Amino acid sequence: MNTNHRRSGASRDLIFETHDLRRRAGQMMQVQRDARAPQDLGLDMIGVPEDSPVDLDLRLESVIEGILVTGTAEVTLTGECSRCLEPIEEKSSFDLQELYYYPGHEPEEDANRVSDEEEIDLEPVLREAVVLNLKFSPLCRWDCAGLCPECGANLNTHPDHDHGERIDPRWSGLKDLGAVLADPDSDRSQA
Ligand SMILES: [Zn+2]
Ligand SMILES: [Zn+2]
Repeated sequence: MNTNHRRSGASRDLIFETHDLRRRAGQMMQVQRDARAPQDLGLDMIGVPEDSPVDLDLRLESVIEGILVTGTAEVTLTGECSRCLEPIEEKSSFDLQELYYYPGHEPEEDANRVSDEEEIDLEPVLREAVVLNLKFSPLCRWDCAGLCPECGANLNTHPDHDHGERIDPRWSGLKDLGAVLADPDSDRSQA
């Protein structure tokens, strides 16, 4: 991930100016913003589509070391059920909390910090909140029955689906007969 990418296009949506709070501990402000999702916000099986809405409801609070951000991000997740492979689309809300340090106050190098332009970049915090809370094996519903291991039928839509014993040769014969009867040209072979 490079800084140029983060600063361009949709990702600018996740930059917040903080100069109103600058160094006045105890000051706070509420920010609501309809942002667009950055690239690759999620995991392989499920995530937030790029440019889809991210409704942010944040509180930015000035503390001694920097700016404490708390709030929520509401998104729509899309993906695929890991059992039945049906598409999933669901609203989800992620809690955000991060302290952005003022320059010179960072306890460690990779701490999130308030930039020299008095801005904070929510993207890494949003990304972490989403990625760490997504399920690696998403489900369309908690009791998804999955697919038949034998033929791949969706067991949610075919709850009585059953192969019984091994497929009986006589049964496959009947299936052939069914095909013959369904085929109008089959009269010839019957004659
Ligand atoms: Zn499923
Ligand atoms: Zn089956």
